[in-house]
Amino acid sequence: MTGHRPYISALWHAVPSNIQALLSQYIHAGIEAYKANGCPMGETPTIFFRADDIAIPSTPCKTMMQIFAEQNTPLGLAVVPAWSSPSHVATLLSVAPEKNELWCWHQHGWAHENNAKQGRKCEFGSDRTSAECADELQQGYSTLHSLFGDQFCPLFTPPWNRISDANIELLKQTGFKAISRSASAPPQTILPDIPVNVDLHTRNELTAASGWKNLLDELREGIASGRCGVMLHHDRMNTAAADFLQLLLIILKSYPVQSVPINFYML
Ligand SMILES: [Zn+2]
Repeated sequence: MTGHRPYISALWHAVPSNIQALLSQYIHAGIEAYKANGCPMGETPTIFFRADDIAIPSTPCKTMMQIFAEQNTPLGLAVVPAWSSPSHVATLLSVAPEKNELWCWHQHGWAHENNAKQGRKCEFGSDRTSAECADELQQGYSTLHSLFGDQFCPLFTPPWNRISDANIELLKQTGFKAISRSASAPPQTILPDIPVNVDLHTRNELTAASGWKNLLDELREGIASGRCGVMLHHDRMNTAAADFLQLLLIILKSYPVQSVPINFYML
């Protein structure tokens, strides 16, 4: 797929045998740290899940959605408008038809193309004219609005989690109410930001051990902050990653961490 080289991160080739105990330990530590902080975001920390690069109803995509449906856990689906079609959307909506209220369909760029002339990948950076960007953003909004109707949420996840402030301004003019990027993205005050801080599937660590250490640290720190955002990429999930996702959703239910839809923070 454009801009994404499908490969499996090192950690998904070597899941620790005590992963259940580790997950419990880090979730617990996150909750304790949140309490020690005086619960700044309310009594219970929240967690939300955002899946990027949605459009084609491939087997990995459907498997991921089924895991969320089985666990009754909300999932924000960031849809690439230029890859979408009425038949794709019909198939996505039929994966778990009785659970469609779990999904938050929103926009992921326009065509997921890298338009940066140099440096890090970015679709809506500073290398194109404002008119060109405005046209694509509007086209994406109209496409998804007509495909999803009332189920389309005016939230924008930029591909590679990067977007210029000028384009965030265009998003606001187009009718978007919030954006979702990485927690490390440069601060801006144009639209509310719903940051993700846990990256499950596009990790670059060379060893599984360092991947697990960093992933679990991100989970603990997200929970400790009171708002944990988890990013998923179904194309990079193997069976171990799917099993882990299911385990994570199950274990979370036994802790005072509330799983909320991504648009919970927009209400
Ligand atoms: Zn993407």
